Amino acid sequence: MIEIKELHKYFGALHVLKGIDLNVKKGEVLSIIGASGSGKSTLLYCINGLEAIQKGEVKVDGVSVHDKGTDLNKLRTKMGMVFQQWNSFPHLSALENVALAPRIVKGKSKSESREIARAQLEHVGLNDKIDVYPSALSGGQQQRLAIARALAMEPEYMLFDEATSALDPELVGEVLDTMRLLAEEGMTMICVTHEMGFARDVSDRVAYFHEGVMEEIGPPEQIFGKPESAHTAKFLANVR
Ligand code: ADP
Ligand code: MG
Repeated sequence: MIEIKELHKYFGALHVLKGIDLNVKKGEVLSIIGASGSGKSTLLYCINGLEAIQKGEVKVDGVSVHDKGTDLNKLRTKMGMVFQQWNSFPHLSALENVALAPRIVKGKSKSESREIARAQLEHVGLNDKIDVYPSALSGGQQQRLAIARALAMEPEYMLFDEATSALDPELVGEVLDTMRLLAEEGMTMICVTHEMGFARDVSDRVAYFHEGVMEEIGPPEQIFGKPESAHTAKFLANVR
C-alpha cells in the first residue's frame, strides 16, 4: 500500500504540495483530478522518488521512499509509470521495446524477456504489432505500448499521468479501455486524468486537487454527484 503523510513539496519558494495525507490500498483505483498546476504530477513524482520532498513521508509497502538508505531503483520496479507522451526507443521494435527492461533491469534471459514482451503486447491488444517500430504506431497504440512496457516489469502499482491528454479524441478510448482492463484485473492504480467519464466509472475514489491541497476525496458518486467543496463543484461545472 501507498501511505502519504503530511507531504509538503516546494520548488524554491513555490509551495506546490501543502500537506497531503493519502493512503492507497492494494487493488484500489484512485483518480486525481484538478486544474493544471494544482500539483497532481508532482505528487506522482514524489511517490516514485523522482522528486525530493521537504516535509512529511511517503511509504510504499512500508518502505520510506525518501529515506537516504532506500534503494530507489528497486522501489521503482514496483511502480510502472505512464506519462502523457512516452517516447519509446525508435530504433527498437515494439517487442524489443517491451523486452528491454525485463532484460536489463530484471536480468531475465533473452528468450524469457521476449516471452514477457509478447504476453504484455497481447495484454494491451498489440499482438499484431510485435515487429512494428514505434513510428508506425498511432498515438493510441504508442500509449498502449508504453503501458505494455510498464507492465513487463510486473509492477504492483501503476501511475498514470494524463496518459490520454496528448491523443486525438478518437484514440482516447482504446487507451482508456486498456486502463479499465487493468483496473478490472485488480491492479492498484493512481490515475491523474481529465477524463471525467473514466474517473467516474472506473475509480474506487476520486481526489480533487486545488492549489496544492487535496481539497476533497471520496467515491465517484460523492465527487460527481454531491461534492462537499465549492472548489470541486466549480471545477466540475467548468469541465463538463
Ligand atoms: P499539475 O500536474 O497539476 O498540472 P504540476 O505538479 O505539474 O501540476 O505543477 C505544480 C506546480 O509546480 C506548478 O506551479 C508548476 O509550475 C510547478 N512546477 C512543476 N514542476 C516544477 C519544477 N521542476 N520546477 C519548478 N516548478 C515546478
Ligand atoms: Mg501534470
